[in-house]
Amino acid sequence: MTTEPRRPHEGHGDTFAVLDPATGEPFDDAPDQQPEELDAIVERAHTAWRGWRVDPDARAAALLAAADAVEAAGPDLAPLLTREQGKPLPESYAEVARTAARLRYFAALRPGTQPITDGRPVRSEVRWRPLGPVAAIVPWNFPLQLASAKFAPALAAGNTVVLKPSPFTPLATRMLGSVLATALPEDVLTVVTGREPLGERLASHPGIRHVTFTGSIPTGRAVARGAASSLARVTLELGGNDAAILLDDVDVEQIADRLFWAAFRNCGQICMAVKRVYAPARLYSEVVDALAQRAKSTVVRPGLEAGSQLGPINNALQFARVEHYAARALADGARAAAGGHRLDRPGYFFAPTILADVPSESPVVTQEQFGPVLPVLAYRRVEDAVEAANDTGFGLGGSVWGTDLDRAEAVAEQLECGTVWINHHGELSLAQPFAGIKESGVGVAGGPWGFSGNLRPFVVHRPQEA
Ligand code: NAD
Repeated sequence: MTTEPRRPHEGHGDTFAVLDPATGEPFDDAPDQQPEELDAIVERAHTAWRGWRVDPDARAAALLAAADAVEAAGPDLAPLLTREQGKPLPESYAEVARTAARLRYFAALRPGTQPITDGRPVRSEVRWRPLGPVAAIVPWNFPLQLASAKFAPALAAGNTVVLKPSPFTPLATRMLGSVLATALPEDVLTVVTGREPLGERLASHPGIRHVTFTGSIPTGRAVARGAASSLARVTLELGGNDAAILLDDVDVEQIADRLFWAAFRNCGQICMAVKRVYAPARLYSEVVDALAQRAKSTVVRPGLEAGSQLGPINNALQFARVEHYAARALADGARAAAGGHRLDRPGYFFAPTILADVPSESPVVTQEQFGPVLPVLAYRRVEDAVEAANDTGFGLGGSVWGTDLDRAEAVAEQLECGTVWINHHGELSLAQPFAGIKESGVGVAGGPWGFSGNLRPFVVHRPQEA
């Protein structure tokens, strides 16, 4: 059984310990870089930018070579990722594959030039230019994939990048940095690891021209405040509390697997996981039972062990938060249809939990639990479900599930968020924009929109030729 949460990132001089969440024990160290080192690192990123920004074709060739190198390093990267993050090994391989795919996708994009035609006798043109050194700060749930969502478009656009992973998951990102260095010019991408205030100082560094951050809403606010000091551009991808609304014509058995995994994959540690389910009162017991049955039959074991479907929660702080939300809901009168407790073994394992009869004001409903605990709520009128789904400061995603797709889409249209799905939840294409509203985000990631978020317009006016 896991005992007291450990202090995160206990240090040993110039390194800090990295824990295996499947045991709760340290298994390696990472460099504890100090904020004072950032001046030289950002300066070198600036110098490297002068060469990197010049030739889009050379950049594309380097990014394609980088993608090949990442793919080839899968057998080293994936087990290390599972060891420090906890997810089942096949999911780590998938994360490596998506990292390579993202490099290839953005390698194909080029900063364009657009004529401005407004009838005046001048020849004006917008030439899209890179910004300079970009700071990329990422969380621990998808360390490689989320890093690539930042560095691939930034590099393709001609910027250089200083990348800071979470201190909970620094090792696979460091290895990724070494792999990328075999294909990219020196100092074009630098990985820095360390404990706070390293991230805070990176976000506010005067040499950084764009801070692209993924993480929690409170840290996002701190990052925005830091970037304000240098007036750097800010892109924030923050937390979510996505609702899934089941309509009364839904085929529960048909959708139950998809709905369950949309909430529980990666132990629910996904910004756009389903975090609350609204089911019509008539189908409520059937929905709870279908989800509980899946929760009970899920194989929970260390991610490196064959057959694991869910690994541990990533870290002691998150484990304590999830445990607190579940206990609080049970104290508020909820019923655990499955799970509801930690598992009696080392590491941060929590039983996949389905909570029924949860009061709507319980924090597991109103906040982001970010763990393997799913509240299911009953509604009588679909308008009430939509209102409840929208009654939140979060605005990342949402989904509607039913047999009549037009009706489902009409309900989905009413959700206040950046992305809605019908009969599934959480799938993203590399080519689509991804942008939370309300407190879930600022700016746009993904596709050509994420690419142009790393560019600025440079306008040239000249008279028309006589
Ligand atoms: P976090 O905000 O605690 O940390 C994110 C990163 O910020 C880490 O690298 C951390 O070291 C760094 N950091 C901490 N304090 C900082 C500061 N003052 N200034 C600058 N950087 C600082 O988030 P987390 O717990 O690692 O990740 C979980 C959160 O991330 C959840 O809320 C989840 O929803 C969110 N998330 C959002 C998306 C999205 O795309 N919207 C994707 C994944 C995760």
